[in-house]
This record gives sequence, structure tokens and C-alpha cells, in this order.
Amino acid sequence: MFPPNAQPPDGVSDDSARCVEDTLTIRRCAACNKLFAPLTPACSACASEDLEWVPSSGAGSIVSWHNFGRSWRAARGENYSWVTPRTFRRGGGTAVDNAYGDPERAARQLGNNKAVAKAHYIDETAPDNREVLERWARGERPKT
Ligand SMILES: [Zn+2]
Repeated sequence: MFPPNAQPPDGVSDDSARCVEDTLTIRRCAACNKLFAPLTPACSACASEDLEWVPSSGAGSIVSWHNFGRSWRAARGENYSWVTPRTFRRGGGTAVDNAYGDPERAARQLGNNKAVAKAHYIDETAPDNREVLERWARGERPKT
């Protein structure tokens, strides 16, 4: 389920779980067996798009977004108040895109399509030049 007033990412429905003939089912990656709720178009662990519906064990629990938010804020405290799902997604999407120069790869990590990842999560304002700048600051120059 998505939080109230939120829209699922493009290509993802809000069907986190289904009841099929009185059996609660959930999506599972056929390649690595990771379970997903909410849904994602691909496995975040192995990038497989082979997701299947399997019966849920019922061992999980439902947590309201409000209760999760309260616990999350308490765990972050003042020092990490900037850490939000959005900053994590932006940081992760940008890191993957910068590392591989591949917004499609970052989009798959985020569970979005490339257009959504580029519009909302990949920061293209400045490339990550820290390694080059740190070498430059140490006086190391590129070999010509
Ligand atoms: Zn997988």
C-alpha cells in the first residue's frame, strides 16, 4: 500500500497484496525469493523482472505510515533529521547514475522508469567529481 494521498510510481499498481480464492498472496522474485510489498517493477536485490504471486505466510504485520513515521523520526533524532525516504532515494539514484553513467540502471534500482527517476530522483545539477578534486587538491595531476 502507498501512503495516503501518494501515487504509486509509474508502472506500479497499488496492489501490494492480493486475495486469491481466500488466500492472501504477495509478490516474490522468482530468481532470489525476495518478497515485495509495496510492489516494484523489478527486484531491488537482483534486478530480475521475474516477479510471481505466492501465498503469504501471514507472519508479517501491517504498520500504518503514521506509526512508521513517528518511529522513524524518533530514530533519526536531530543529527539525522535530513534522512528521509526522499533523500535516500535521491542520494541512491544519483550515486548509481554517477557511478555507472546509466540513468536506466538507477531507475531500476529505484523501481521507477527512467523518466521518473531523472525527473524526481537523479540530481543532474553537478556530477560527482570528488575523487578528481581530491587528487587535484593533493597536487596529483592527470597524466597527459
Ligand atoms: Zn531478486
